[in-house]
Amino acid sequence: MKRILKISARAWVLVWVLYSVLLPQHPARAEVFPYKGPQPRFVFLFIGDGMGLAQRAAAESYLAAIQGRDLEQVRLEMNRFPNQALTTTRAVDRFIGGSAAAATALATGFNTRIGYLALDPDHKPRATIAEMARDQGLKVGIVSTVSLDHATPAAFYAHESSRGMYHEIGHDLVQSRFDFLAGGGFLDPAGVRSSNPRGDVRDAARQAGYAIVRDKKSFTGLRPGRGRVIAMNHRLTERGAIPYLIDRTSDDLSLAEFTRKGIELLENPKGFFMMIEGGKIDWACHANDARTAIDEVLDFDLAVKVAVRFMEKHPHDTLIVVTGDHETGGMSLGSASTRTQTRFEILQGQAVSFKAFEEDVRGFRRMGTSFEDAMQLVRQRFGLDGGDLSETDRAELREAFQKSMDGEKHHSNGPDYLRYGECEPFCAMAVRVLNHQAGIGWTSYNHTGIPVVTSALGTGAGLFNGYYPNKDVAWKIMSIMGLKKASRPAR
Ligand SMILES: [Zn+2]
Repeated sequence: MKRILKISARAWVLVWVLYSVLLPQHPARAEVFPYKGPQPRFVFLFIGDGMGLAQRAAAESYLAAIQGRDLEQVRLEMNRFPNQALTTTRAVDRFIGGSAAAATALATGFNTRIGYLALDPDHKPRATIAEMARDQGLKVGIVSTVSLDHATPAAFYAHESSRGMYHEIGHDLVQSRFDFLAGGGFLDPAGVRSSNPRGDVRDAARQAGYAIVRDKKSFTGLRPGRGRVIAMNHRLTERGAIPYLIDRTSDDLSLAEFTRKGIELLENPKGFFMMIEGGKIDWACHANDARTAIDEVLDFDLAVKVAVRFMEKHPHDTLIVVTGDHETGGMSLGSASTRTQTRFEILQGQAVSFKAFEEDVRGFRRMGTSFEDAMQLVRQRFGLDGGDLSETDRAELREAFQKSMDGEKHHSNGPDYLRYGECEPFCAMAVRVLNHQAGIGWTSYNHTGIPVVTSALGTGAGLFNGYYPNKDVAWKIMSIMGLKKASRPAR
């Protein structure tokens, strides 16, 4: 008996040594999150770009204010999820994270350098959960309100050392063989800004069997079995993005509509993985434009709602994870100028985004519009009544108007940056006056290092509770989906 035990102990040591030597590439971190439950077939990862707790709370508080209801009655869908966590967002080389590095962490489980897409800090390509899902026979969808080659979507299929290599990223997209890519457009399909152009991305996509759909009628008519699809909103505004919700018309498609169509096209017995990004929450927060940001959060939350409705049909088969890649703007509910007062309802008077108003300001400059005439439009665009404005507000607006009319170039390191960020001064000031009156404060025109909220619902969702770095979101999803790093990344 003793002899048997002795042999068996030696055998165990041998097994352990062989295991450690032969399987060094095993994704050992995944074992930090052991999961024994059932595997969901349908997995949604929602990423609100620039969306921290303040953005989520502001959207909810705004809804309650304009509807005159209790906060508890207007909970955002994502805020109702039973599992809520805090997630840190730093990159390896910078405390304050960025979209590419954060999306890489969320997609691959590796913390990386600012600007890298699905490469680890040593420049090694790492497989993404979307690629792993594809290799296991699941269908894959990537949806965003910004261009399809933008940092967040790109980190799920491209492996590049710079998020700005839009042409190369476009070709990576085609090579991904993902099934459904939808939302915005391409930023450098022809390779105009590439040092090594490889032919038009759209031609390559068609040759690879993708249908490229740009009008609403064809989009609505898409049915399962059509094959791989790249679908864009018919109207793309700045940087190839879908217009802000506040500037949309009924012809424009919403994030929820793209998500619903994705589900329709991708649903199959093996399952799917979908990443859905609200990409312009970040852009509105860079401009410190609360109302536009709030609308983007609401647009995003409606897409989350679509996934929740789908889950009601597949209650034991679905996992929904919602997170942010980093916070933007250092947004707060409450500001120095209004102390403990808030009037979120006045944001309802804003009719257009800062971006649309910037167009107006450029028009003023061309036409030599007077300050009083410009203020008329401020009243229309932002609902700012003359009576609402203090002497200080008017003086600040007049000074900013003059700067815009002088057409001074504003550089990110120039003296006016602290006052106006990178927007037209008059536009920045109109937005700021409205935000301050509503009781919303901002501390930055860029990202901040405040942790974001991660929410989870459905099969395996309990694993997401806690306080952890963003990369763990990927390891948890891999563990729950039983994903294996079966193949190397596409290139
Ligand atoms: Zn971002």
